Amino acid sequence: MDNPLLGQEQLPQFTQIRPEHVEPAVRAMLSANRARIDELARLPEPTFAQVVEPLEELHHRTARTWSPVSHLNAVVNSEGLRASYNACLPLLSAYHTDLAQSEPLYSAYRTIAEREGAGLAPVQRRLLDHAVRDFRLAGVGLPAERKQRFKTAMLELAQLQARFEENVLDATNNWSWHVDDLAELRGLNEMLIEQAERRARERNRSGWVLSLDQPTYVAVVTDAESETLRRAFYEAWSTRASDQGPSAGRWDNTQVMEEILKRRHAAAQLLDFPNYAQYALATRMAHTTDEVLAFLRELAAAARGAAQAEFAELETFAGRKLQAWDVGFYAERLQRERFSVSQEQLRPYFPLPRVLNGLFQVAERLFGVRIQENGAAPVWHPDVRFFDIIAADGAALGSFYLDAYARPNKRSGAWMDECVGRKRLASSAALPVAYLVCNFLPPGGARPALLTHDDVVTLFHEFGHGLHHLLTRVDYPSIAGINGVAWDAVELPSQFLENYAWNPQVLQQISGHFASGAPLPAEAQSRLIATRSFHAGLSTVRQLEFALFDFRIHAEYSEARGGRVPEVLREVRAEVAVIPVPPWNRFPHSFGHIFAGGYAAGYYSYKWAEVLAADAFAAFEENGVFDRGTAQRFVDAILSRGGSRDALEAFVEFRGRRPDVRALLKQHGIDGAAGQAA
Ligand SMILES: [Zn+2]
Repeated sequence: MDNPLLGQEQLPQFTQIRPEHVEPAVRAMLSANRARIDELARLPEPTFAQVVEPLEELHHRTARTWSPVSHLNAVVNSEGLRASYNACLPLLSAYHTDLAQSEPLYSAYRTIAEREGAGLAPVQRRLLDHAVRDFRLAGVGLPAERKQRFKTAMLELAQLQARFEENVLDATNNWSWHVDDLAELRGLNEMLIEQAERRARERNRSGWVLSLDQPTYVAVVTDAESETLRRAFYEAWSTRASDQGPSAGRWDNTQVMEEILKRRHAAAQLLDFPNYAQYALATRMAHTTDEVLAFLRELAAAARGAAQAEFAELETFAGRKLQAWDVGFYAERLQRERFSVSQEQLRPYFPLPRVLNGLFQVAERLFGVRIQENGAAPVWHPDVRFFDIIAADGAALGSFYLDAYARPNKRSGAWMDECVGRKRLASSAALPVAYLVCNFLPPGGARPALLTHDDVVTLFHEFGHGLHHLLTRVDYPSIAGINGVAWDAVELPSQFLENYAWNPQVLQQISGHFASGAPLPAEAQSRLIATRSFHAGLSTVRQLEFALFDFRIHAEYSEARGGRVPEVLREVRAEVAVIPVPPWNRFPHSFGHIFAGGYAAGYYSYKWAEVLAADAFAAFEENGVFDRGTAQRFVDAILSRGGSRDALEAFVEFRGRRPDVRALLKQHGIDGAAGQAA
């Protein structure tokens, strides 16, 4: 049988990929790769052209085969796919670990660096430096027994992390809320109520059934007048995969988290790092744990006073003490009263087609590119769209998929991922292709999908990641696009682009009432813009709570005491949090970013990169937000460079100085004296 995952077509053949293709394809690919790597590792006179280039090609092919699988597992999850996916995880992990731990390749890279280094282009030297560094971090040079322990820890980690995510997905999918009395849904938008009615019908039940997907959860805690409903959703959401709440103990991640932390710590110690956080920093823009903690605490000190004042004001507004499940609801009302604008009221003004159009115009104006839809690509779901991005001179730069809507068996949240990486090697070339995935409420009947402004910001954010991947000019896959970029700088392009979703000119371009075509009224627009700094203190301390929790559990793990997950969380909350949290809240149990994803000891990077993004955007504000020259310098210094240069150097080249935290505080409206509500 022809295996669609092994084809070398420009794009994955999504309509043909079946779960039974996955394991044979991965096994075939890995064994061919291993044979080739053996050959390369035995070359007596290794050179950049004969060793590094072919390895870059293998890197590209591996990603090219696996990317569609892990993508489908996330967006059209099924039992069959999940089983195939899981069966491959240990194979891939073992392969990557073997590759990363190859003594002969390590010595080949060092030989090449020594012999050819001086004659190589800077980007090639950088590639070698990265590779040598990563070999060290992967345990090359360790005695055999330690090396084996490291390998085992990594393999187990991959399985534990997948398990963590499955538990969250199962706990989420398994819970729903049934009501027979429409009055209990008062405050919720019509689309959600329609959807709930349809869901009840599908299950042969009367009334309405609400599920625990992210948009529903957010809508309920923000809009539902019924405190019972809000509390039920808050409880179900914040106890997912834990020992508390409606499915207590059924998909409990308590032990999984402990095992993950234990393996990470052990792996770091095998490499002579004191803890996992310090190990993680070896590849970051920040270098020491103290530097990160000091950065987070500096922001906390600047934001906490504002957060306390905001919360006190909110309780005064509500006329009572507030619980965690009340905060979103009253904040929305206060915001509406103060700015008379709500996320839901603005929805009709942000039909997705119009928003997309406006977003593309921003990219076109800033970067001189053109974006056009291409109906020819095979897709995994009829709602998915595909676009080409074209340079001013007509040259193709790359393409991207957009999978915009929430649906069952699709992972919640929004993200950009690499489908195909850019390469221009002696053997062959490829243009970059990205996945942009969101979870917006789908269209209904003749009505297009309508976004909240939060959704709009999310879309701009992911598109910013997309541009980083698509506008790269680096030829080597391992350091092209978002590859090889320091983790704490990876959110710079995404958060930078968010600024445009708040720009008055852009807001006019991306909005228009879906039925009447009326523009977003000027007054609503200026009120919307004013909301940007609304509760900036509260949202900053919330992010800092996640970031400090993540960083501390990885920095402070000890074999004797274990992870101390609940204790550290309590301490962090005492230090920075402002909103009271019920004792049964088990937020860490579904904190996939750090337990299942790549943000372990890296959640701080959101704030870190926000500082970079705010400061970079300030350069545009100084020169004009659509200034082509500034945009070109941004592309040249940062957006196109991938991991081919140091993140701090790149920033300094663009800005003419090091990043300054004050740009972010100013953007948040909390740059004045602490204690002042924005
Ligand atoms: Zn992001």
